[in-house]
Amino acid sequence: MAGPSATEPSAKRPREHLPLTRFANCRVLRGHSLAAADLWVQGGVIVEPQRLFYGSFQRADVVVDCEGLILAPGYIDVQLNGGFGVDFCSADDGGLAAGVRTVAERVLAHGVTAFLPTVITSSADAYRRILPQLAPTAGSASAAAVLGVHLEGPFLSPSRPGCHPAEHLATPDGAPDQLRRVVGDLVHNVRLVTLAPELPHAGELIDELRGRGVAVAVGHSMATAEEAEAAFSRGASMVTHLYNAMPPLKFGAPGIIGAVLGSPTHRPFYGIIVDGGVHVHLTSVKIAAAARPHGAVLVTDAISALGLPDGTHRVGDISVVVRDGVARKEGTGTAGRDGTATLAGANMPLDACVRHYHTLLRELHGDGDAAAVLALEAASLHPARALGMDHRKGSLAVGADADLLLLDESLHIRRCFVGGVEVEGKAYARPTVY
Ligand SMILES: [Zn+2]
Repeated sequence: MAGPSATEPSAKRPREHLPLTRFANCRVLRGHSLAAADLWVQGGVIVEPQRLFYGSFQRADVVVDCEGLILAPGYIDVQLNGGFGVDFCSADDGGLAAGVRTVAERVLAHGVTAFLPTVITSSADAYRRILPQLAPTAGSASAAAVLGVHLEGPFLSPSRPGCHPAEHLATPDGAPDQLRRVVGDLVHNVRLVTLAPELPHAGELIDELRGRGVAVAVGHSMATAEEAEAAFSRGASMVTHLYNAMPPLKFGAPGIIGAVLGSPTHRPFYGIIVDGGVHVHLTSVKIAAAARPHGAVLVTDAISALGLPDGTHRVGDISVVVRDGVARKEGTGTAGRDGTATLAGANMPLDACVRHYHTLLRELHGDGDAAAVLALEAASLHPARALGMDHRKGSLAVGADADLLLLDESLHIRRCFVGGVEVEGKAYARPTVY
């Protein structure tokens, strides 16, 4: 039900006669390791070289010399509230579709080849105005793919609303077709829903969402570890921004954090904001990375101030001051040790989050490939798995979309390709920036 046509497997398209591209002289991220190999692309997807050679001998029409760089899947941001002056929760002017296009174009410079526009708790009327403008779209060399909407809310705990408007929070009623009754007929534009599993009838809502093919994340929640585990057993595949908007881990009450970090399985995945210690303390990030390295999903949780220069900007109804890349509400000064309440939202681009995370992982794993592999997979393979679409996105397996990044050893992006076509004219963040 959640498989819109724009994201149907492109591998089904006939492509035998399309140009064949060989990415040569690269270190390919596959099978949780980096190895010298070539990668072959035809018709926008990764193809099997043996089949090409043994079935009918083919030479590459185009050879891309990767100059020894890392070749990794494009990044996927599952929690992006806006950027570059665009707020996905604002539908006042009806120009949101153009705004989404702007964001889709601009995030390519940060290696993001697919993302989920994220809508926080809103009124029923606002959902009906916003969702039609956030339809899934296929990616191209000029715009990242929109995979569908991440609805963060409205079924959240009134005790952990964060910045969500309390008057629009809702409780599941257990009756059928809950999601459609809240957001309207464009329910198929929804790819991920964050909810609090301790609310009444949340279990039935999880069943409904999973039945529609919508992924479920636990967040903005007071759930006990047992309630969280029950949600994971029922099909929730992720936790939204681990540590933020949930109770702390206590000796007798491990809560969601304990349920995630103590899980013996590969699930659930956990979103985490790794922006150099602004939203989550570096030690807290390292604890999660040490306990569940294959569960991390790097998210920006970025707001419309992402990509805006230092200065004062209007974000929704508030004035935001961006200074040294950190956005705060105007007049609240500089946040101190416990001053996160003044943060107006995250605004670090995902490629910078990957590099911050890489730095922390090197403290745990040393300077070898392991840290780089885990950092890259946390922004590609893990989010794709959390969404249940790793057959198409987030991996360099045969049949996957050829959304590719070429990166140096410090994970700075040198080149970006979407559907095998190079993104032109982007100034990738230089080492001096982050
Ligand atoms: Zn949130």
